[in-house]
Amino acid sequence: GCDFFSEANPHALAEQQTHLMQRLQMAQDLHQALRRQELFLVYQPIFDQGSGQAHAIEALIRWRRPDGQLVPPDVFIALAEETHLIVQIGQWVVAQACRDLASLCAAGLPQLKVHVNMAAPEFTREALPDELTALVQTHGLRPDQLSLELTESLLMKQPEQVMAVMARLRQRGFDISLDDFGKGHSALSLLKDLPISTLKIDRAFVRELGQRDSERAILATIMDLGRHLGLQVITEGVETTTQLDVVQACGGRLIQGYLLSRPLPLDALRARLLPTAAA
Ligand code: C2E
Ligand code: CA
Ligand code: CA
Ligand code: CA
Repeated sequence: GCDFFSEANPHALAEQQTHLMQRLQMAQDLHQALRRQELFLVYQPIFDQGSGQAHAIEALIRWRRPDGQLVPPDVFIALAEETHLIVQIGQWVVAQACRDLASLCAAGLPQLKVHVNMAAPEFTREALPDELTALVQTHGLRPDQLSLELTESLLMKQPEQVMAVMARLRQRGFDISLDDFGKGHSALSLLKDLPISTLKIDRAFVRELGQRDSERAILATIMDLGRHLGLQVITEGVETTTQLDVVQACGGRLIQGYLLSRPLPLDALRARLLPTAAA
């Protein structure tokens, strides 16, 4: 806007220029990052509190720059989306995640699933269902062991294209999770028409649990809604035992959060999920 060129505040202008230069530099560096193997995945388990077993793991990307600095994914994923580098990054993420899942399956966790986060430019690609089908076959995985996570805001960007790709992925047997549910302007009426299998309740609904009864009522209602629509429900962001107790009292069984486990590198995850094999 006009603020950018405001002469009234030369300091702000200089700051914005610096910010812009930093983003440009970061975009260039990100291009190299894939090739230089600066990107890696960590995995956070999603536990089934009914069985006590890990139900799935969520792949979360990390970027460690050559100087050792870790760039938060929220920052560089947004940048990658703007530059379309996200498609290449996403292809690398899903391939690496399937490779790692196959190794965990072989090590004694044959039922485990992996969740992978998807961005808008990935989910509008016609070739995605074919590519993913080939990928799971290569690794001897079932399509339902791969869950693609997308957000409502992604869906809203290009609803028709995204819905078409979603429907084809579901036909092929892939699992689709609606991430951060309730965070944006959730269109509840849309939910019944979406070809999804899993609902991930945003951690905003968990944060205040235990303080007010109304928070608990809202969480319980969202869970009932998901179940009535025949969806699996995962609750994110459980950090305290109080929150865990309330989520379970609301009927929540699939739980992800720092209380149960932080995101872990593959070796640490394997040791956590297969303690005997690690010895
Ligand atoms: P998200 O998909 O909602 O992932 C959950 C985020 O919450 C992760 O942050 C995770 O580390 C964090 N988290 C997990 N449990 C807790 C908890 O108990 N408390 C709190 N406060 N936080 C918890 P992370 O790894 O920094 O990722 C941030 C976001 O970056 C993700 O949000 C996702 O939108 C995006 N992202 C991460 N990896 C990828 C990727 O491979 N591809 C794409 N497109 N986006 C990704
Ligand atoms: Ca996610
Ligand atoms: Ca989420
Ligand atoms: Ca998110």
